[in-house]
Amino acid sequence: MPISFSSSKLPDQLFINNEFVSSKGSKKLSLYNPADGSLVTDACPCADEKDVDAAVEAAEKAFPAWKAISAAERRGILTKFADLVQQSAEVISEMTRLTLGAPYESFGKFEVGLCADAFRYNAGWIDKFGGESWPQDDGFMKIVRNEPLGVTAGVVPWNGPIGTIGLKAAPALATGNCFILKPSEKTPFGSLALGELIKEAGFPPGVFQVLSGDGSTGALLASHMRIRKVSFTGSIATGKKIQEMAAKSNLKRVTLELGGKSPAVVFDDCNLENAITWTANAITANTGQVCFAASRVYVQEGIYEKFIAGYKKAMQEKAKLVGDPNTAGTTIGPLVDKSQFERVSGFIERGQQGQGKLLVGGNRIGSKGYYLEPTVFTDVDIDSEIHTEEIFGPVSVVRSFKTEEEIMHLSNNTQFGLMAGVFTQDINKAMRVASEFDSGMVGINCVSLMFMNTPFGGSKQSGIGRECGIQALRAFTEPKTIMVNLTY
Ligand code: NAD
Repeated sequence: MPISFSSSKLPDQLFINNEFVSSKGSKKLSLYNPADGSLVTDACPCADEKDVDAAVEAAEKAFPAWKAISAAERRGILTKFADLVQQSAEVISEMTRLTLGAPYESFGKFEVGLCADAFRYNAGWIDKFGGESWPQDDGFMKIVRNEPLGVTAGVVPWNGPIGTIGLKAAPALATGNCFILKPSEKTPFGSLALGELIKEAGFPPGVFQVLSGDGSTGALLASHMRIRKVSFTGSIATGKKIQEMAAKSNLKRVTLELGGKSPAVVFDDCNLENAITWTANAITANTGQVCFAASRVYVQEGIYEKFIAGYKKAMQEKAKLVGDPNTAGTTIGPLVDKSQFERVSGFIERGQQGQGKLLVGGNRIGSKGYYLEPTVFTDVDIDSEIHTEEIFGPVSVVRSFKTEEEIMHLSNNTQFGLMAGVFTQDINKAMRVASEFDSGMVGINCVSLMFMNTPFGGSKQSGIGRECGIQALRAFTEPKTIMVNLTY
């Protein structure tokens, strides 16, 4: 059965124990369409303590049977869910677009596909994620099993609301955990609608639940005494609170995927066109609201003028692609909402007061909705906020550099460590620089990309732990050592 919800019939209930139920609390969320600023609803449920407790109770009840289900059956359920998500890609994206503003062809399709891929990829691991055993040369045989944790939760952001679900829920469920999802208060509809597909795929009641809510719901999950893990994606400030709540409650396990201010280092000997294409795409995809966007671009002085001319032209071309996300041909939509628009506009305004030189962009597009021109500052002061802080919009800063040593120091001189890119045709230099970057991910002649089978995440304040690949399965399991005495 196809999904019955749509942008004209939005889900307005929580999904607990395989049923859509009304929230016990009276608090409601208001959501607006960033394409024109209009009110979408003021009645989206915000799960309260009783709702969270009900979901935890259902998950606890479901856990023993879910943990014990055969690998083939669990794999079948995850794979069917992936297929159902894929089949409903357009309608899930449509509901998300209503409050995120991201066009389908350039973003919605990708992130729903990412979610479906994550379920397929992790389903494939179910009968391959074995443990270890060690020889009994000392009279004891040792077996190490990967045990699921129990009730786990995912608190996700608005900028990739459906893709992020796959990265957290799929490995959690594949390894036998129950999972409670809390979408962002800015993008709850696509996630709530998944309830229908969860049921249809055959997940038993209580295994996979969805609670819409704001930070208060996230805090209830992070501090819950019977939730064993919270996997969080969002800002550094909230990530720190989550870790504190986890520590102060039951020392639940925590994975944190946080912000970035990722550098792209462009050397004189690069393929210029390739460097311009990657760096321009990186900062405009999803209107720059991407955690691993290359937002600091460092260009060696020999090609600086040429790069600047090409990068400026590329950004002017990108500006032509900004528009209503529902119109065919638009690849860059508005910023997610008024507060994000004002935040990014504030950076642009203050940036022009002595922090750097505005190369291109800087203006609002149109008078309704939250559209901004792709914006670039050059000659930025290295201590300025536009150079040091995550702006989370289509705004990048560019500086020229002389030596590799100088630029590696500047690249790493930041609290962030999510992604970095190096552009050069010298393989030795590329590998040297790649190992010098203090970041979780590095692109050589590419930047701001990810793969399902390789670890995704950051060093320093960009996060703790990794998603994707086998690391994601490890993050949702606890090794248990069993020692067998063979000597008596
Ligand atoms: P945010 O921190 O404001 O919110 C993220 C989630 O946390 C939301 O679901 C929100 O309701 C919840 N939340 C807010 N306060 C909470 C609290 N006190 N306790 C528990 N939960 C709480 O982040 P955002 O604005 O939604 O997302 C943007 C940020 O996310 C950016 O910094 C971006 O870089 C980061 N991000 C990181 C990655 C990554 O993988 N590293 C991916 C996407 C986004």
